[in-house]
Amino acid sequence: MLTTDPFEDDKLREECGVFGIWNADGAASFVALGLHALQHRGQEAAGITSFDGTSFHSHRAAGHVAGNFDKDEVIRALAGRTAIGHVRYSTTGSSALRNVQPLFAELAQGGFAVAHNGNLSNAMKLRRTLNRRGSIFQSTSDTEVIIHLVATSSHNSLIDRLVDALGQVEGAYSLVLLTEHGLVACRDPLGIRPLVMGRVGDSVIFASETVALDVIGARFERDVAPGEMIVVNDSGVRSFRPFAAEQARPCIFEHVYFSRPDSVVDGTSVYESRKKIGAELAQESPVEADIVVPVPDSGVPAALGFSQESGIPFELGIIRSHYVGRTFIQPNQEVRHLGVKLKHNANHALIKGKRVVLIDDSIVRGTTSHKIVQMMRDAGAREVHMRIASPPTRHSCFYGVDTPERAKLLAAQMDVESMTKFINADSLAFISIDGLYRALGDHRNPAAPQRCDACFTGDYPTRLTDLTDKNAEATGLALVASR
Ligand code: SF4
Repeated sequence: MLTTDPFEDDKLREECGVFGIWNADGAASFVALGLHALQHRGQEAAGITSFDGTSFHSHRAAGHVAGNFDKDEVIRALAGRTAIGHVRYSTTGSSALRNVQPLFAELAQGGFAVAHNGNLSNAMKLRRTLNRRGSIFQSTSDTEVIIHLVATSSHNSLIDRLVDALGQVEGAYSLVLLTEHGLVACRDPLGIRPLVMGRVGDSVIFASETVALDVIGARFERDVAPGEMIVVNDSGVRSFRPFAAEQARPCIFEHVYFSRPDSVVDGTSVYESRKKIGAELAQESPVEADIVVPVPDSGVPAALGFSQESGIPFELGIIRSHYVGRTFIQPNQEVRHLGVKLKHNANHALIKGKRVVLIDDSIVRGTTSHKIVQMMRDAGAREVHMRIASPPTRHSCFYGVDTPERAKLLAAQMDVESMTKFINADSLAFISIDGLYRALGDHRNPAAPQRCDACFTGDYPTRLTDLTDKNAEATGLALVASR
């Protein structure tokens, strides 16, 4: 098999999307639609769990939402007026079916299903402790730690047990949970990953992004606040703030790349944010050129912003085919290198003889940027200038985003001058961290940043217990080995 989408393969990848609905006829069919709109947040597996007032029903499968949840018999089997769902790209735990969410357990207090967007940075430590106390894990997912902490809590009610459990975890979690007593939504005290609440008729909905509300005709009500827990059942909608208030640190990368441009994140249109980022980039790093070309699809709004600010015409210099899957079986070795052009091809007639500004959202390993620059040169570009709508990605994410280890991040290894040579561009510039905040309407406070920007700055908003333990262990081993 040959990868036909090298542009997407050299991106940071959001790991999960969640959706939950309470009080809707055929709740599972709404969840399937919502998950469909969140497919960009996780494409390896999808799952839905419903509750019909007596029993829980679950269907989890590898692959996309379409294909798994477009069959009548599958949706009919997910009976009930309340359901939650999850799309996944693996973070912690392998992609085996046992890790596909929602995870479900029969607790002493009844059935308990959980769908989690984020990643716990002390899950390994908690797991070791739980293992020693006799907990038997069914999956390798960090999310299962929450279930065991709830199961073994000394508190009485399920909600108190959940609060007790979440009080012990570190890292990022936006959760929707299904119990016999109602639907629960919860966001970590820093609000690292997004979670929104909406309504349609008498139904209450929670979703990772507003676009999932749009597709089912629901109206956006509000963000679930950082540190907030919302319980929805026949008694109504109740909001709790069980954790001490902290300065929120929502992920800044949601605006740069992860969220769909038609979503509203932290009260701001992602599309507008990206255009402003492009405009800020044009102000910070202007360049003499003939055309502004976006790297499709994620570079498009930033390129529009760059074009409008600079006055350089916006042109579609790279055309994307929408009929190509992620991989393609190459007929023979000779055409292997041609596969990458199946999905993206230079618009030769446009590019020839032009000075091109290429706009992309980020550089991860740099392999893609090199290929795109070469694609422009092969098409006859006179000059190729690359402008990036995020600061250099120098650090790994531990909060639910798939990042290569630091050693594989180009910006962790090279300065901008060396990167320019590596990708073979005439010039390369990234938006500054302050410029990125400005574009989002903030003034960055370096002493207490208003967002998580750790992949650019290394300023992680939580402890990284598992990483520290791993490093300590490695150092310990090295010490032993050197004795
Ligand atoms: Fe987002 Fe980067 Fe923070 Fe991860 S490290 S949550 S990708 S800003």
